[in-house]
Amino acid sequence: MAKYAGPVCKLCRREGEKLFLKGQRCYTPKCSFERRGFPPGEHGRDAQFRRRRVSDYSRQLREKQKTRRVYGVTERQFRRYYRVSLKRRGLTGENLLQMLERRLDNVVYRLGFAPSRAAARMLVTHGHFNINGRRTDVPSMIVRPGDSIDVRPGSRRRPYFKELPEIAETRTVPRWLERDAKGLTGKVVQDPERGDIDANLSEQLIIEYYSR
Ligand code: SF4
Repeated sequence: MAKYAGPVCKLCRREGEKLFLKGQRCYTPKCSFERRGFPPGEHGRDAQFRRRRVSDYSRQLREKQKTRRVYGVTERQFRRYYRVSLKRRGLTGENLLQMLERRLDNVVYRLGFAPSRAAARMLVTHGHFNINGRRTDVPSMIVRPGDSIDVRPGSRRRPYFKELPEIAETRTVPRWLERDAKGLTGKVVQDPERGDIDANLSEQLIIEYYSR
């Protein structure tokens, strides 16, 4: 299944919160959610005034969709992550978030090498990164502690990567990653813990959704 290619700001409006899918624009007054914070569609504007009882199913579904959209993965991939998480030791919900967080496109984003996960995904698919010294173009690759992520020598000559060290310096790196912004390299030092992952996601609701 192909990845979602529609207008991403609609996704924030549908979920009723900012999902920060567009990089720098999300922090400016141009953000669609700031200007039109009601659901998309013909009756979206009316919906914000309507007080509806929200069912458990609806809350579970919305949480699953939100998380899927934040990480930019398809339903099929997401369900596969859930199945793998179920088989692993530990808490299924935490395993699931940990897998999403360890995706290569997310790691490139977290290292500050891309303004959004979508941009990170594109940089990876265009083959700008080496993982442990080998070129990869698979954004869904799951990294492990000890893995190194470097911008490839040939890519460093491009204007984007020439300006990147200065931009990357302004971004904070989570403690499970290490970064050398000037050298355009990064390393996974440990697995991410729950505290390192977005607190605004409720893994419990996602598990409830899939275990119906
Ligand atoms: Fe969401 Fe960013 Fe679009 Fe705002 S600009 S609606 S936060 S994707």
